[in-house]
Amino acid sequence: MKNYSIWNEYKMARYPRLEKDIITDILIIGGGLTGLNTFYALKDMPQKILLVEKNKLGQGISSRSSAKITYLQEGIYQKISNFKKAQAYYEANIEAMQNYAKIIKKEKIDCNLEIVKSILKAYQKKEIKKIKKEEELLTKFGNPNKASSSKHFYTYEGIFSYVIHPLKYLDAIAKLSLTKKHQIYEDTGINKIKRKKDYYLCYTDKNIVIQAKIVIVASFYPNFLYPYFFPLKCSLERSYLVALKSPNAYLSSINIQKPIHSLRYYQDYVIHVGNTHNLSNYQNIFLEGEYVWSNYDIMTFDHLPLIGYLKKNLIIATGYNTWGLTGSMLASLVIKDLINHKKNKYQKLFNPKRWSIKKIIKYPYHILMYIKAYFKGNIKRCPHMGCPLIYNDLENTFDCPCHGSRFSYQGKYIIGPSKKNLK
Ligand SMILES: Cc1cc2nc3c(=O)[nH]c(=O)nc-3n(C[C@H](O)[C@H](O)[C@H](O)COP(=O)(O)OP(=O)(O)OC[C@H]3O[C@@H](n4cnc5c(N)ncnc54)[C@H](O)[C@@H]3O)c2cc1C
Repeated sequence: MKNYSIWNEYKMARYPRLEKDIITDILIIGGGLTGLNTFYALKDMPQKILLVEKNKLGQGISSRSSAKITYLQEGIYQKISNFKKAQAYYEANIEAMQNYAKIIKKEKIDCNLEIVKSILKAYQKKEIKKIKKEEELLTKFGNPNKASSSKHFYTYEGIFSYVIHPLKYLDAIAKLSLTKKHQIYEDTGINKIKRKKDYYLCYTDKNIVIQAKIVIVASFYPNFLYPYFFPLKCSLERSYLVALKSPNAYLSSINIQKPIHSLRYYQDYVIHVGNTHNLSNYQNIFLEGEYVWSNYDIMTFDHLPLIGYLKKNLIIATGYNTWGLTGSMLASLVIKDLINHKKNKYQKLFNPKRWSIKKIIKYPYHILMYIKAYFKGNIKRCPHMGCPLIYNDLENTFDCPCHGSRFSYQGKYIIGPSKKNLK
C-alpha cells in the first residue's frame, strides 16, 4: 500500500530558489491550483510577475484532490440560501469548466482530460427529497437534465464533468506561463508582508525581501494575514481517498449529502473519497487500497469561495469548500479582471470581506472544536501555534488538528501553515 496520492507518481519540473532581494509588479504567493491558474491567466500581461512557492509546485492540497471539474457539487445550490447567488455560482462553475476545456484544447495539454457522465446520487430515501430540490433549482437555472430512479439509486445525471490529472495540468500551465518577465521560485516561503507607501515588502523565510506593487495570496491557508483571515468564517474538513484497480466506467459521481461517497476513474483505477470529518474532530481511519491518502479543504460559512481584495493591492483566493478546481479557475478570472480594473460579475459574490451575522452564528461551534482539539493531541507541539499534534497511522505523519500543518514521521514539514520542521 502506498501512503501518498496517486497523482504524486508524476514528477513535475523543478524551479530555483530566490537567492536575492527583488522588485516586481505582481507577486503570487503559492504554487497550487490557485497560484498557477492565476499565473497562467496573467501570462500575456507586460508587467513583471513572480510566483513564489514555499515548498514544491503543486505539492499542497492540489496534489491530493480527486480532480473532478464539475458543477454538480453535492447539494451546494440548495445550501446557498439565496436563489440569485446560487444561480450566479452555478453560472460561474459552468464558465470555469468551459475555461479548462478551452485552455487544455488551445495549449494541447496532455493531462488525461476525460469528459465523463456526471451523477448526483441518493443512497437513502431521505436524500431523494434533496436531489429533487437540487434538480428543481438546476432546472430554474436553465440546466436541461432530469432526475430518475435506477435499480439501486435515485440519481440526477448532469450534463457532464471533466476529470484530469491535476499535476500534469499544473506542470504544463507553469511551463506555458514562463517568460523573461514571469518567473517561478520554489523553496521560497513568505513569512511576513508589510505595507509601505504604495507597495508591499514581502519577507521570505531566508529573510530575502520581495518588493511588489500587487500581492496575490494563493497559499491556501493565509496564516501570515492575521487579522484579515477570519477564523469565524471558516473551518477545515478532511476526507480520505483510496485508489483501487478497476476498469474505467467513464463517470464521476457523488451523493447529495454526508457521509460523502465520491467516485471518479483514472486509467485502471477508481478513486473513492469518503470518511469526511471536521479536522478538529480528528479520526484515525484504517483503509486498504493500492494508494491511500487524505486531504482537507477550507469550508466557508456561506459555501462560497473567498476571492478578491482584502485591502489596497492585496488579493486573496481560498475557501473552495472542496471544489477548488472550478474555484481556482474562477479565482484566476476574477483576479485578472481586478488587476486590469475591469468589473467582474462575480466580484461581489466572492468578496472575501463579506459577512453575515446570521450564518456566522454557528461558527463558534468550530472554535470550540479547535479548543477541544488543542487538548486532545498528545505527541508534539506544532511550530505554527503550539497545538499538540496527532499521529496519523495511515499516512505516518504528525498532523495538526487545529490548522492542518503536517509533518513526516521524521518531523519534516509537508503541508500547511507551519514555517518550520519539528525539532
Ligand atoms: C478530499 C478532497 C477531495 C477534493 N477533490 C476535489 C475535486 O474533485 N474537484 C475540485 O474541484 N476540488 C477538489 N478538492 C478541493 C481542491 O483540492 C482544493 O480546493 C484546491 O486544491 C486548493 O488549491 P490551492 O491552490 O488554493 O491550495 P494548495 O494546492 O495547497 O496551494 C497552495 C500552495 O501555497 C504554498 N504556500 C503555503 N504557504 C506559503 C507561503 N507562506 N509562501 C509561499 N508559498 C506558500 C503551499 O506550499 C501550496 O503549494 C478536494 C478537496 C478535498 C479535501
